[in-house]
Amino acid sequence: MKKIEFAPPDITEAEIAAVTETLRSGWITTGPRVKKFEVQIADYCSQERAVCLSSATAGLELALRLFEVGPGDEVVTTPYTYAATANVILHTGAKPVFADVKDDFNVDPEAVARVLSPRTKAVISVDFGGMPVDYDELKTVLDEFRGWSPSAGTLQETLPRPLLLADTAHGFGAEYDGRKLGSIADMTVFSFHAVKNLTTAEGGAVTFGGPFCGMESDEIYKQLRLLSLHGQSKDALAKMKAGAWRYTIELAGYKCNMTDIQAAIGMVQLSRYDAEILPHRKAICETYLEGLAGDPRFVLPSFVTARKRSSYHLFPLRLSAGNEKARDVLIDKMADAGIACNVHYIPLPLHPLYRGLGYRMEDYPKAAALYRSEVSLPVHSKMTTDDAKYVCGKLKEIGE
Ligand SMILES: *Cc1c(COP(=O)(O)O)cnc(C)c1O
Repeated sequence: MKKIEFAPPDITEAEIAAVTETLRSGWITTGPRVKKFEVQIADYCSQERAVCLSSATAGLELALRLFEVGPGDEVVTTPYTYAATANVILHTGAKPVFADVKDDFNVDPEAVARVLSPRTKAVISVDFGGMPVDYDELKTVLDEFRGWSPSAGTLQETLPRPLLLADTAHGFGAEYDGRKLGSIADMTVFSFHAVKNLTTAEGGAVTFGGPFCGMESDEIYKQLRLLSLHGQSKDALAKMKAGAWRYTIELAGYKCNMTDIQAAIGMVQLSRYDAEILPHRKAICETYLEGLAGDPRFVLPSFVTARKRSSYHLFPLRLSAGNEKARDVLIDKMADAGIACNVHYIPLPLHPLYRGLGYRMEDYPKAAALYRSEVSLPVHSKMTTDDAKYVCGKLKEIGE
């Protein structure tokens, strides 16, 4: 029987060779390869700077910390996301405030407008499945918000509105108005986790430009670097130089830097990204669109609109019946046929943590309805378009 995995990593001999070369180089933690990868990421997104970190989670949290979000503050985000997006808000002591989504799984700017308050310090948007959110509409909502109340004596005073922080964990290579994500929001966070489009096994990056919050991008870079490495004035590479032993600790930073081993994988992935990885994902998704078109049992996702171009991270199929039980049965039957499907996502208010904090799923009816009907089909560069046709055949055979 055919076996189709959900999202195995796409690692070739070139990535393996790059890792061995790094291990042999004598420099295995944050060093020259990370610096180079940061420049390449920024160039790819046509953005001024990028900081590479151990995960997207770390990037989201450092952005909130940089912006001095803390107890008493609120951060608006979507309930239709992975826990990382909202857990980092809890880490800072601020309160996550959820705004419901639209049919494309992305946060509804009008719902965001309804929940903004004088305590809102940031909005974290999520480009679900790699399809960009309505950036213009979101920015307009934030620009027109009249209740902006920055905390006195903080960096927030330099901004006229809440921070727009993009959780673009799914969206590397996606475009909005012809520009790559990474250059659209105030700050953008990418994930290079093993299941993401471009991987470093674990890893992430934050991209930004200046001036922002009164800082040029070099200064933002410096601050994020400090936050990622115990507030230490010199990184390991700078300290290694003979005689350059002295350093200072400037703040109680975290420890979430990226290693050169990870960056070595990332640079090979990036060199293959536009020519191999992204076109392959696109071909798989287009095969699904063709193979399932016209079947009334399925609602198909869209990957291209007048302003947006997806990175084809997920294929979020919806079952017209919208029946959770039938959805679960379908996933089991697909598994029996050797095909791994998934569900993105269990909305956060359904998890014990968020339920315990008082969030109620009834308050986000759109997210609840999407969740009941969603099945993510496998998308990765280890499968062929024939595999995708086989998935369509099985779906049509066993779909309710
Ligand atoms: C994967 C993911 C993250 C977290 O990424 P890490 O690199 O694993 O920290 C955050 N948000 C979303 C939407 C994700 O899918």
